[in-house]
Amino acid sequence: RSLNTSDLSVQRTNDDAQVSKLSCVNKGYFRDDYIRYFVRRASRRSPLINRGYFSRVLALRQLLQDFHAHLTSKGAETIQVLSLGAGFDTSFFNLQAPGPSGVRWFEVDFKEVTRRKAAIIAASEPLRKLLGPQDRHRIHPDEGRIVAEAYSLLPGDLRDTKACQATLEAAGFDPACPTYVLAECVLVYMEPEDSASVVRWLGQWLRTAAFVVYEQIRPHDAFGKQMISNLEARGCPLKGISATKDTASHIRRFTDNGWERADAKDMSTIYRVHLDASEKRRTESLEIFDEFEEWHMIQDHYCIVVAVNDGSGKLKDFGLF
Ligand code: SAM
Repeated sequence: RSLNTSDLSVQRTNDDAQVSKLSCVNKGYFRDDYIRYFVRRASRRSPLINRGYFSRVLALRQLLQDFHAHLTSKGAETIQVLSLGAGFDTSFFNLQAPGPSGVRWFEVDFKEVTRRKAAIIAASEPLRKLLGPQDRHRIHPDEGRIVAEAYSLLPGDLRDTKACQATLEAAGFDPACPTYVLAECVLVYMEPEDSASVVRWLGQWLRTAAFVVYEQIRPHDAFGKQMISNLEARGCPLKGISATKDTASHIRRFTDNGWERADAKDMSTIYRVHLDASEKRRTESLEIFDEFEEWHMIQDHYCIVVAVNDGSGKLKDFGLF
């Protein structure tokens, strides 16, 4: 399948996300010692954007930790993470920094993106070190591929699930291992039938898994229309949002496509009820902030979905907060 201009624009959304995450790190919202390697030109974001990314990153970090802790308590020695449309996400490096984590990490993105990521990793010693002993990993910048003991960076177009499965299998992905699938601002950029087929593919393939989605909702009110037209103006339409316009339709996308159960909440609820209170207190005093009305609007227009397949009974009590 050849790339078109809309594929190129969606790849650029990755750079945008990493610039925003670095902006948060520089202001002290959260720690990430590796993001700076992936940003060519840093730029300061508004307090509103910083706080939005902070809630996104904190919520997703908490969920992955919960999943890991949950399975470890049930005796699992290894878990897998499959990050779809991972872009330049640095979670693997942050997780690995204190020492081996027992997590095998797999990332898939367009080859254009994984080539750039592989080249950056190859050129940065602190990143390379975290891949483990040098004789045990292979970096192929031209192919956009890294295969290491605990980390695989793989080129793939998620619209071709067969090819993605073959690529993952060749890299040693084990469908029987408990797996945390993450799609952070990814599926919404795909046509509804393509994202549904990703959900169906993994629903059938993975018996013990959680699938976590973070993305936009509520395209029809005034703020939602504005959000959509802003992205469209940048050549990046939210092609998928017609099929997942609210938390209920997000839940249905999973339960209609082979997942046992799913739950979803908007980010207003997640921030208010579920995020760590001391972290909120700490970060709320980092910058002068007076855009409360807009803040609530933005948070109302994003959600997190967690779907679960529990073939082994190990995920009985795991869910969205
Ligand atoms: N998940 C990362 C994060 O949140 O920091 C990056 C998010 S970025 C907004 C969207 C990513 O999805 C881009 O890196 C883009 O290349 C990737 N993507 C979109 N459609 C894709 C597809 N069909 N196949 C593979 N990757 C895709």
